[in-house]
Amino acid sequence: MMTFVRETCALAELAGRAGWDQEVMMPAGAAAQRAEEIAALEGVLHARRTDPRLGEWIATVVPQGAVERASLRELRRRYQRDSRVPADLAVALARVTSQAQRIWAEARAADDMAMFLPTLREVVALRRQEGAAIADGGDPYDALIQDYEPGMSAARLDEIFAALRGPIVDLRARVLDRPAPAPLEGHFPQGAQLALSERLAKTFGYDLDRGRIDLAVHPFCSGSGADVRVTTRVDESDPLGCLFSIIHEVGHACYEQGVDPAYALGPLGGGVSMGVHESQSRIFENQMARSFGFAQALHPMMHDAFGDAGGASPEALWRAVNRVEQGFIRTESDELSYNLHIMMRFDLERDLIRGDLSVEDLEEAWNTRFESDFGLRVPRASLGVLQDVHWPVGLFGYFPTYALGNVYAGCLFDAMGRDLGDLEALLAAGEVAPLRAWLGAHVHCHGGLYEAEDLITRACGAAPDAAPLLRYLEAKFSRLYAL
Ligand code: ZN
Repeated sequence: MMTFVRETCALAELAGRAGWDQEVMMPAGAAAQRAEEIAALEGVLHARRTDPRLGEWIATVVPQGAVERASLRELRRRYQRDSRVPADLAVALARVTSQAQRIWAEARAADDMAMFLPTLREVVALRRQEGAAIADGGDPYDALIQDYEPGMSAARLDEIFAALRGPIVDLRARVLDRPAPAPLEGHFPQGAQLALSERLAKTFGYDLDRGRIDLAVHPFCSGSGADVRVTTRVDESDPLGCLFSIIHEVGHACYEQGVDPAYALGPLGGGVSMGVHESQSRIFENQMARSFGFAQALHPMMHDAFGDAGGASPEALWRAVNRVEQGFIRTESDELSYNLHIMMRFDLERDLIRGDLSVEDLEEAWNTRFESDFGLRVPRASLGVLQDVHWPVGLFGYFPTYALGNVYAGCLFDAMGRDLGDLEALLAAGEVAPLRAWLGAHVHCHGGLYEAEDLITRACGAAPDAAPLLRYLEAKFSRLYAL
């Protein structure tokens, strides 16, 4: 039966590769055909994952040891989930979400939510049906969260976010009261940005022999084991988006590349949850790469790539990469505003899936909430409700894992500092390897062996909690803005 499971995992990797191709190099005219191809592959995967022989094996096998027990736990979760979803619903979802991405991109370019409404209505209806089927009488939104963060619930997220919200709103208000540091200014050629991206990817431990870097509309990481790919995007007037996206995605990639090879193409062969995944990308991007220490190592690299435009001094660069300012876009937001973006999406999508908010009222609900949280009136849909790809492709329940990842990253960085000592000195010397090795030993190598909360608790010696993240943010932004 493990051969059958391994083949299913291999086919799922191929489906992921087709998704990568769609984002990176597929000709635009192939969209409709690709939707059919992906739907066909999803059909095969669904049939294999719900094969009655697999169900019988899961029900009768007696696991030997921790690895087999964990593998069985993952297989059982997946089997129960998928066998509750009718095959025609799974195929319809795959087809609709693949097409929705193109329609969303067109609507966003035209700044026209009305153009996207019929498609979004269909995506939400199908995911609500799916959530209800998986929940089997329980809460459909909680059921969808399990796809990204097994074991998590909306109620527990509410608790964690409630602890975060007040202190972050307060700290952000104090920061916005102070003058903003100067941004980098100049022309930053694409070639130089991509060359520096590769240099940074290697500094942070990305194995390019088992990976590659490409350009895409949205930065992402895809694949596992021996084939883990990342993408970035380039804006020649601002290099920081490209460089910090690469470091972020390399954080995801190092997690996948660092999983024990014995787990490859098996149920434990990838990151355990999206929250833990995001903790790895965030700790690379924020706690490590945006630190005062790493600015000392980054500044000469920036100077090599861009001359004087790369920042007047390490300190000026550190201030520039940590600018807090008002803005509309989640992916461009600073470490404080980011969590507010996520909490807002979490509340709105939960209402959509529970049927407390209609798709027709979503744009208005978004704009009202945004104005109350950020004090800005959203001028057009591309700066508001149409900015993210997640809802168009049906990823309801995914957003909260971003802020959860920040919380996990706070816990891990705290524990890492206790174990390794002066992290700032290591980062200032460009010595990322010891930090990467600590994450490798405490997080990466385990793959899916331990469940998310258990993994973080084992790594940190205490259950995950918002306090370390809040302490880190308060210390960092007080120093940056002389609060
Ligand atoms: Zn990420």
